[in-house]
Amino acid sequence: MNIDIFSKCYKFEDAKQAKALGIYPYFRPIETAQTSEVIINGERKIVCCSNNYLGLTVHPKVKQAAIRAIKKYGTSCTGSRFLSGSLVLHEEVEEKFAKFIKKERAILFTTGHHVNLGVIQALVGKGEVVITDKLDHASIIDGCMVAEYYGAEMARFRHNNMQDLERILQKYEDKPKLIVIDGVFSMEGDICNLPEIISLAKRYNARVMVDDAHALGVLGENGRGTAEHFGLEKETDLIMVTASKSLASIGGFIAGDEDVIDYIKHFARSLIFTAALPPAQVAAISAALDVIQEEPERRKRLWEITNRMLKSFKELGFNTRNAQTPIIPILVGGGLQRVFSFWRELYDEGVFTSPVLPPAVPEGEELIRTSYMAIHTDEQLEFILEKFAKVGRKFGLIPGSGLPKGKIIELSKRRKLARRSTRRFFLGIKSWMRKLFLSKNDYV
Ligand code: PMP
Repeated sequence: MNIDIFSKCYKFEDAKQAKALGIYPYFRPIETAQTSEVIINGERKIVCCSNNYLGLTVHPKVKQAAIRAIKKYGTSCTGSRFLSGSLVLHEEVEEKFAKFIKKERAILFTTGHHVNLGVIQALVGKGEVVITDKLDHASIIDGCMVAEYYGAEMARFRHNNMQDLERILQKYEDKPKLIVIDGVFSMEGDICNLPEIISLAKRYNARVMVDDAHALGVLGENGRGTAEHFGLEKETDLIMVTASKSLASIGGFIAGDEDVIDYIKHFARSLIFTAALPPAQVAAISAALDVIQEEPERRKRLWEITNRMLKSFKELGFNTRNAQTPIIPILVGGGLQRVFSFWRELYDEGVFTSPVLPPAVPEGEELIRTSYMAIHTDEQLEFILEKFAKVGRKFGLIPGSGLPKGKIIELSKRRKLARRSTRRFFLGIKSWMRKLFLSKNDYV
């Protein structure tokens, strides 16, 4: 049998069918800047799914810094940090970030995904163990898989379950260990139990790396993230952040002791074998770091919004799981068709959110992920709540007139496919998701 390697591509119909049904939520091209309100396909939408927590993508200082850097350095480094791509600009921003995060050294990768790939691969090898939370971000899983290729072992504990973490630490008592955890979990919006993790790590001689993608600029008195939030900055060995969220750019840092960063710098494949971050993006990070420190009122406003939205969603009767941060999931449940339809109704009402599907969440616990920015206006927040209440009632998710709880909204006649092909379509979406997330990485 000699099958064309592309045959699976020609057979992949799920995304096309979702588009035909009008419920495909992915790859939606935005026609305007990334702020709290955008235009998609000519229609105005209030953004409720951005990671632009402080709204710095449109801050005049950040934009100006990027423009100035292009004027001085051009558009690209065209080489890796390792060889010809390093600029003084990279080293300056690394120093600035290390100082801000209170670590000896930091190094800048081209994306946050590259940081997790490269750091885990560089630090954890044969006879060593990387331990993760089951809800850790996919980029951490990818880093673990690369490390596994080099002979490392990978173990995962149940989400935020410290007994399960201790069980794993005991199992690997005699091996060198790195625990890698999200500071703020990207889909659930809860915070890791860093105090307990650090205390266990000390007891079992493990090191701790925190992925603060969603915590930088958000958590802590000065926005330094999860370690600052818990008063554990010295005890946290490595802090990873991405620049693609509060830092309004792209790129990612790892910060820690000088020798450890120097080692990573010389062994992380995803640093060495990819081009350096372009000047405009580096300058944007640098300016965003300044703004985070100069304008703490943005963080204050973000937390006012977060508390208000959490309270309002709960008062309306929505289940917001364990959310503690500007990421607020809304439990919809009832399967893929229901969550896709819920998402589409919100979208048609003018609210842009993200659906979260199994295996990222358990079957039947599908979510709509909402997230907030310091630049959301009160009117926009009211609009979001009003539309959620309307759609929530329609779906019987919250009290009020609507369909009985659990009933799936029928798709409009125009979009409706025959029942059988719809069922087949949702099975297809499930297998696509499983393939994307890899069954060994099921988060639940
Ligand atoms: N870690 C976490 C927790 C994330 O949410 C993300 C991105 N969503 C990343 C890492 C990867 O960051 P980047 O987008 O910079 O590649």
